[in-house]
Amino acid sequence: MEINHLSYSSISLYQRCPRKWKFRYLEKIPTRASEALAFGGAIHNAIEDYLRSGGDLGAIWEARWVEKSMDDEVDFDAETDQALFQQGLEMLQSEEILTGLQTIQPAMEDDQPVIEKKVTLAVEDVPLPVIGYIDIITADQLPGDFKTSQNRWSESKAGQEIQPLFYLAALEQEGHALPEWSFNHYVLTKGKYQFQNLRSRFRPQQKDWLFAMIRNVWRGIEAGVFFENPTSDWACSEKFCEYWALCRGKYA
Ligand code: SF4
Repeated sequence: MEINHLSYSSISLYQRCPRKWKFRYLEKIPTRASEALAFGGAIHNAIEDYLRSGGDLGAIWEARWVEKSMDDEVDFDAETDQALFQQGLEMLQSEEILTGLQTIQPAMEDDQPVIEKKVTLAVEDVPLPVIGYIDIITADQLPGDFKTSQNRWSESKAGQEIQPLFYLAALEQEGHALPEWSFNHYVLTKGKYQFQNLRSRFRPQQKDWLFAMIRNVWRGIEAGVFFENPTSDWACSEKFCEYWALCRGKYA
């Protein structure tokens, strides 16, 4: 099998639709990113640049957006390009979002802010490492990530996320001193340009459940179990599955 690592996103994709996992990670069928994905990615990169070195967030956004809009892998036209650029500019220059971002203090390691920290999780009986990148470790030594969302998140939505548990388990394995098993979600809304900092809390023993889950996913991959999962709600549709034409859409 031509893969040398797993990641949290590949594991959750396998859970959502094993056939889709096979298209992406084994058959490596190229796809084009959606406008929404490209927008979220450019906002994410601009925030990280700003927290790394400060400066004019509007100018940083422009540089990051130009870079993204020149990417051949993204699927949008000139009109949406301009509209999305403008939306990002208004978002990042809104008082609430700018003030919120200014409250975030990255931790420092070797005189560098800890942003996009690579972590590797080893799971018993899984021969491949599970890797991930944590958006930020803040000065209080807690990990966190940046999300762009149409609407505000609720506390319960933040609490249901599993990815933070993966990051916390990996940091613990790497000997990072965690003051508590908590994770910061920084959410920027596209609708009303709001900023939220939600904190989800875990118990250390929950990592045993995480390890069991990863082991079971690996067993499925290793055994070549790649069934279609059309019950995975909205994701199995022409709009949201990039492999639709190769799979369910072929018979529609
Ligand atoms: S069309 Fe549906 S079943 Fe097929 S890969 Fe996409 S999500 Fe899975």
